Amino acid sequence: MLRYLNYNIVFQEVPDEVTLAIHISQCPHRCKGCHSPILQQNSGEYLNESVLDHLLHTYQNAITCICFMGGDANPKEVERLALYVKQHSNIQTAWYSGSVKIPEYCNILAFDYIKIGPYIDHLGGLNDRTTNQRFYAVRNGTLIDITNRFQKKQALSMLSYV
Ligand code: SF4
Repeated sequence: MLRYLNYNIVFQEVPDEVTLAIHISQCPHRCKGCHSPILQQNSGEYLNESVLDHLLHTYQNAITCICFMGGDANPKEVERLALYVKQHSNIQTAWYSGSVKIPEYCNILAFDYIKIGPYIDHLGGLNDRTTNQRFYAVRNGTLIDITNRFQKKQALSMLSYV
């Protein structure tokens, strides 16, 4: 079963969405320069349907998306919980995975957005044009690469400093 450390409402992680980001622990990756090494530990509360029910009940009028941040130790469980959100709300679902690619056995229709790729220090994150990471919108079963949405935002914020 997945475990999570905490959650918060964020605005940058999924373009055009107000997102409740759930930070899942037990990350199997060991990215050099990891932003949150604590997520590699086996700790936190269990993430299950009753937790999602509570979050939906509390936040569904304030958010448009729930994002599973991590969960690569058990992708099938991330998929299952994302489908649960879809079946019990009109909230969009997103998945931030640190894996190199989406596991072939995963149903991408469980998600409206998928970020894929480990953090590689010298290539940077989604905001960097050199990044190895990709951010997809899932539309009609097709993955549409919208990574440049993050880089445009970065370019605009740099312009405001000129
Ligand atoms: S995938 Fe994310 S949480 Fe996991 S080791 Fe890499 S940067 Fe850290």
